[in-house]
Amino acid sequence: VQNYIRMQFPSCSANESFARVAVASFVAQLDPTLEELTELKTAVSEAVTNAIIHGYENSFGEIRIECSLYDQTVKITIEDDGVGIEDVDMARQPLYTSRPELERSGMGLTIMESFVDRMEIQSEPGQGTRVTLVK
Ligand code: ATP
Ligand code: MG
Repeated sequence: VQNYIRMQFPSCSANESFARVAVASFVAQLDPTLEELTELKTAVSEAVTNAIIHGYENSFGEIRIECSLYDQTVKITIEDDGVGIEDVDMARQPLYTSRPELERSGMGLTIMESFVDRMEIQSEPGQGTRVTLVK
């Protein structure tokens, strides 16, 4: 690891744009293209939104983000202590959403995966979820 940041903040939607911008400005030191930066911002924003609305079901909880820089690689983890995911393989399917009544499209994880080189999801029902993005 050459450099890293850690952030922790409550799960309110105002912090979603903060997290997206904070990660982007930190990653900027690797001289990414504008497109790469936009993709990373979108991925972080989708993950934080998921933690807020699914993980914590819009109640209070803590979200933690760690962003590590390697030579030309970024690793970002977004972690919550929320409800967790029963079936991660199902959650990763395009168009799958557990909240159709909220007019979610079920595309967040699919979009995130398409924007990074690797996406891992570790989740334990009742314990929380950790999403790892590598690009
Ligand atoms: P969209 O992102 O398109 O608005 P969505 O959030 O339902 O809709 P995804 O982001 O692809 O779709 O997530 C799929 C499903 O995975 C969610 O509906 C939810 O059930 C589950 N999920 C994702 N992230 C979390 C999380 N942090 N905690 C608990 N469940 C999650
Ligand atoms: Mg989502």
